[in-house]
Amino acid sequence: MKHLVLAMLALAIVLPASAERLVRLYDAVPSTVQALLADHIDIAAANLREGWVDICLPDRETDRASLYSSRNEVLPLEWGMLLDENRGNAGYYYSWEENNAFWATFAAAHSDLVDTPVSIGTTVQGRPINMVMMTSNAGGYKPALLFTAMVHAREPIGTSVLIDFANWLATSYGSDTMATWILDHTRVYFIPIVNIDSYILNCNPAGGMIRKNQSPPDGVDLNRNFAYMWGYDDQGSSPDPYSDTYRGPSAASEPETQAVQNFLNSIQPIAGMHYHSYGGYLLRPFGYNNSNTPDEATYASWSSAMTQYNGYAHGQCGDVLGYNANGDAVDWSYAGSGHPKMMAFTPEVDDNGFWGGQSDTTLIANLCAECRYMNKWLCFNAPQFVGVEEESGSVVPGAFFMGPVTPNPVTGQAGFSLTVPSVQGVEIAVFDITGRIVSEPGTAGLRPGENTVSFLMPDDLPSGVYSVRVSCGGASSRMLFTLLR
Ligand SMILES: [Zn+2]
Repeated sequence: MKHLVLAMLALAIVLPASAERLVRLYDAVPSTVQALLADHIDIAAANLREGWVDICLPDRETDRASLYSSRNEVLPLEWGMLLDENRGNAGYYYSWEENNAFWATFAAAHSDLVDTPVSIGTTVQGRPINMVMMTSNAGGYKPALLFTAMVHAREPIGTSVLIDFANWLATSYGSDTMATWILDHTRVYFIPIVNIDSYILNCNPAGGMIRKNQSPPDGVDLNRNFAYMWGYDDQGSSPDPYSDTYRGPSAASEPETQAVQNFLNSIQPIAGMHYHSYGGYLLRPFGYNNSNTPDEATYASWSSAMTQYNGYAHGQCGDVLGYNANGDAVDWSYAGSGHPKMMAFTPEVDDNGFWGGQSDTTLIANLCAECRYMNKWLCFNAPQFVGVEEESGSVVPGAFFMGPVTPNPVTGQAGFSLTVPSVQGVEIAVFDITGRIVSEPGTAGLRPGENTVSFLMPDDLPSGVYSVRVSCGGASSRMLFTLLR
């Protein structure tokens, strides 16, 4: 006990006067979140499904947490700031300089797959915001996929996740089926650090908890500054310049927001991720209110499949966090103007606070691995999803024809129409995304001409994207569908 007290005294002496601490409130319910919002408390992360909310409080005022929950806990110092030994180099996260060095070296080492970093705009303080594109030399139409990180300056794990995924794509190309397919069929774009100015400050003795950019007087929350439903209301998005969720003087007022929006409009991605931390969840639009997008069924099935291994809670912000927020990147990516709909997600990586991995490579590696699956899944499935039909051989309409799987998403029984000239040699098989056969619906009841084939997905299969393929003579046809458990 004595040692603990002495250690705490020592910490109190070295902490700057403005230091903040993260405090976890247990037994949190929606009204807890509403009370925090009403009092303008900075909410760091919230997971109402697990009943906790983490808040930022000045170091000397952490006892205020008991106003909101009698059961609370001051979280370790390294969750909210870099420890002295990690200042400047961000510990095991990538500092801005290390990040730049990584991508330049990476592009040079894999010049057949990775383009040289390109600036897509500058920050408030004039630093270039870099983008890197990856694809193979395979030709043909290649839809774009977009990954961004660190719109919030205190969330460095997102950049680690992007670096891990890019590295996996490059080093697995040619040997791993999915990596090869992704780079042969898509262009994958990375914006590893958006809010560079504040990240640099967070890595120096001034900070650790800076979330907003460096616009005077006190910064703008870039993830409240996007131009869709901007300023819709004051929940989770504030008109007060000194609030941590200040949305700025106008929609897309900030150079960082403009850089991301203009770039996204220029590449028109079909899907992607805007990485944040922390909390362990996968968010989808809409965030500005509790309404569903018209693609809710697809979003739900994809989210369920993407989180099948990491167990991240998925849903909309109002549902998972207990409050809405307008002007965020995911809403604008999905519904904003200047580009077609993008199936965008906001993962909140399950880091220990903002800086919990600074001295823990195992934690960072595990977090990258659990997010890599979500990234792979999205890159592999999103391009194939939109009404994909694959036909080969001499498919003669009226002689051999396969209709789409209905209903889609599939929850149990499903079916499709099938016209065959003869039942001789007809084969029907259901595949998962790795190409493994998971079910072989029988062909016993088939007759020449029109049929309705129905099949039941086995109970032990997880949610995800599957395909059903029919071979008939020398021809085959395939339809994708999503299974939703
Ligand atoms: Zn964030």
